[in-house]
Amino acid sequence: MKQRLVFLGPPGAGKGTQAELIAQKKDLLHLSTGDLLRAEVTAGTDLGNKAAAIMNKGELVSDSLVLSIVEQRLNDSAKGWILDGFPRNVAQAELLQILLSEIDQNIEAVVLIDLKDELLVERLISRGRADDNEIVIRHRLEVYREKTTPLVDHYMSQGLLKTVQGDGDIKAISNRIDEVLS
Ligand code: AMP
Repeated sequence: MKQRLVFLGPPGAGKGTQAELIAQKKDLLHLSTGDLLRAEVTAGTDLGNKAAAIMNKGELVSDSLVLSIVEQRLNDSAKGWILDGFPRNVAQAELLQILLSEIDQNIEAVVLIDLKDELLVERLISRGRADDNEIVIRHRLEVYREKTTPLVDHYMSQGLLKTVQGDGDIKAISNRIDEVLS
């Protein structure tokens, strides 16, 4: 059976790393909207140019713009998938639900990787990405709390949420994810 998973968690929790590992292990398509947006920025496309300033401020780009980069890929995917960084708010979760029902697909589980703010900031500062300076980091955490955390209840009420702790090393976290998904 094709696994279709959503990875949820604050910036710095290790979502991207873990999504990549699990995707390789289970042969799933790893769709990171952050990576896809950064690729558009680097390529200098219209979409990338629209997104760049917003991303550098730590704000969310528009729902329609993100949906446009996810839609076709989900549609085309012959494999299962992991969505990483999408949905990022309730409106996106609802748009995703509509899209999935149109293409007759379902989310099987939502993995929440959780970690304390102090550790998140520490990890993000050491990562050194363009949007990883301390002011932008704090803002991204606020945006996460305000816009993305409502998805925890949203998916919990659907019985899909599996929470793992994001402390410790990469292997320890990935073992925890394997456990909740088995
Ligand atoms: P990430 O790599 O997931 O931390 O994303 C980096 C930045 O890309 C975010 O701070 C947002 O500006 C933008 N972004 C990524 N995914 C989304 C999304 N689903 N909705 C809106 N903005 C997004």
